[in-house]
Amino acid sequence: MSDDRKSQLCAIEDEIGNCKKCDLYKTRTNTVPGSGDFEAEVMFIGEAPGQKEDEQGIPFCGASGKFLDEMLDSIELSRDKVFIANTLKCRPPNNRDPEDSEKEACRPYLDKQIELINPKLIVTLGKHATSSMMPGVGGISKNHGKALRRPNGRTYLALYHPAAALHNGGLRETLLEDFSKIPKILDKLDKTKNENKNEDKNNIKQQKLV
Ligand code: SF4
Repeated sequence: MSDDRKSQLCAIEDEIGNCKKCDLYKTRTNTVPGSGDFEAEVMFIGEAPGQKEDEQGIPFCGASGKFLDEMLDSIELSRDKVFIANTLKCRPPNNRDPEDSEKEACRPYLDKQIELINPKLIVTLGKHATSSMMPGVGGISKNHGKALRRPNGRTYLALYHPAAALHNGGLRETLLEDFSKIPKILDKLDKTKNENKNEDKNNIKQQKLV
């Protein structure tokens, strides 16, 4: 990665640390800009920091984060090889749903991180992150486990949120099964890279990859 891209990503983190673009700055303990490898092939995106994340400034550091770590380990990945972030960088009080104005104010940070990291695959964790990153795609119960190449040229995989799976044995099995598809999806993306080289970027249709 060029020093310029790296310094731009660090500058975003600094900007988030001082951000007052929505009222969530008043109640946060720490901002949670995201963490991991700036050159990651896979980027995981959840909805918003919870209590532990707010206390530590690290995404997915509670019980659901532990489960995420286990799943990463099961496909021979780890936190330092992926990038983990949220659609919101500050915790909504009492974990309430984010307001539209908060999502709108915060989204440019995530969009810029995605642009600079340029991951091969974006994995959305839970229904809120999925609807935010893939508007119009439909509910997570219909779309989980499917890798979709979207009209913006990026490939997304929707997964159930690890926290939901912790309390529901059936969902846990489904999440583990969906998660295990990640290496196969990355492999397929490598194979189709050359085929997509000459395509018209303004005319990409949604495609199901896996
Ligand atoms: S949630 Fe985002 S926009 Fe709102 S204060 Fe935090 S960093 Fe800024």
